[in-house]
Amino acid sequence: MHRIEIDRHWLATLIERERLAYANRHGESHRLHDKATHLMGGVPMTWMRKWSGGFPMYMAGAHGNVISCVDGHDYIDFALGDTGAMAGHTPKATLEAVAHRIATAGGITTMLPTEDAEVVAEELSRRFGLPYWSYTLTATDANRWAIRIARLVTSRPKILVFAYSYHGSVDEAFAVPGPDGQAISRKGNVAPPVPLHHTTRVCEFNDLAGLQRELAHGDVAAVLLEPAMTNIGIVLPEPGFLDAVRDECDATGTLLMIDETHTISMGGGGATRAWNLKPDIFVIGKSIGGGIPSGAYGLSADIARRVGEFSDSGEADIVDVGGVGGTLAGNALSTAAMRATLMEVLTDAAFEQMIALCDDYTAGVQAAIDAHGLPWSISQLGARAEYRFTYPAPRSGSESAAAADDDLDEFVHLWLLNRGVLITPFHNMALMGPNTTAEQVARHTELFAEMAAELAAGGR
Ligand code: PMP
Repeated sequence: MHRIEIDRHWLATLIERERLAYANRHGESHRLHDKATHLMGGVPMTWMRKWSGGFPMYMAGAHGNVISCVDGHDYIDFALGDTGAMAGHTPKATLEAVAHRIATAGGITTMLPTEDAEVVAEELSRRFGLPYWSYTLTATDANRWAIRIARLVTSRPKILVFAYSYHGSVDEAFAVPGPDGQAISRKGNVAPPVPLHHTTRVCEFNDLAGLQRELAHGDVAAVLLEPAMTNIGIVLPEPGFLDAVRDECDATGTLLMIDETHTISMGGGGATRAWNLKPDIFVIGKSIGGGIPSGAYGLSADIARRVGEFSDSGEADIVDVGGVGGTLAGNALSTAAMRATLMEVLTDAAFEQMIALCDDYTAGVQAAIDAHGLPWSISQLGARAEYRFTYPAPRSGSESAAAADDDLDEFVHLWLLNRGVLITPFHNMALMGPNTTAEQVARHTELFAEMAAELAAGGR
């Protein structure tokens, strides 16, 4: 099939038009943004500057998968808080549990357990297979604390990550291979505390030989991975790759640590259940509290036993200030929210519906890409899909990083936003939630096709 080349002058003209339209539709957001002079970078979190259009839209409210902005427009939300709101915005069951906790029972954070914690842990065990769980408030913290545990039980210093992975603000994970294959910082990593090769080994996703080479050193405590990469577009594992990673970990005494913060889109039991993975340590965050800060890490029976031995001997302080835990983690509000969200909102049945809708979303985008000969690809991961401005789909993080295109990102994001559809500000991810409807997916398909036709009209 002939794939066209995007005409960059035409693209620049279209972006200019869309920026103007965005500014015209969002006067109140613009005013509020200009007034925010005490915020670093003018936004609550500097990453909010990623939204296209020069200033972010200000939210008035959000229900289900619709967000209303302060200028009075409604948006079909496929960004869903980059998975933080995968359960939909303010899901009813979570809202009721939170209201009960706060207003009826009382007690948000007391340092005491409530019954919810065990119910959630049992449910996490059912879904992901690991028997022992501990809580956090973010996926970043779950990764940080679990990394300490991996180092503790293996007495090894390094973590292996795949180039261009992202696991939150975890120092070890900002690595790409340098000229000699040693881990170096990826561009933009903010002030790493030590050179990365002290803490990290790195190779490309889907590169088994690279993994074998790095693990052969015998100094890696754990391989930390997402079963499919999701933070540099979606990079799917090739057949057999994840099983080979498990085998290689076993052969070298390395732990396998799986971060399913995003890949839970594969279903109620994430990719771990869908693809029959066998992690030693499991990490999750974002979605499971329905928007209330929540996270968790799970340990296999063997790892939990080894942690217990280090604790009993006094060699590791996992009870007080040894570096594993946070004061507010596992609080009553967070565990109540997780219980309601997992048991009543992000159920196995909800995932089935979300994934079926994502099949349609992906087919719609693929059809428009093909109809207009765009040199793009789309990858689906259950209820989540993402297109990349390259063809065929990238096989590794570095290949995907090389396909980054800020102009096309801005064009697509603004084009959709100006017509009532939000996708993530980070690359081009769309997520279906329990409230997403077939009509909304059809509306996106129609808009995407119109956008592709307009872009292709200037192409060769
Ligand atoms: N793990 C993965 C796979 C992620 O994608 C992210 C965030 N995008 C994190 C961990 C960190 O999540 P948080 O920022 O909520 O700590």
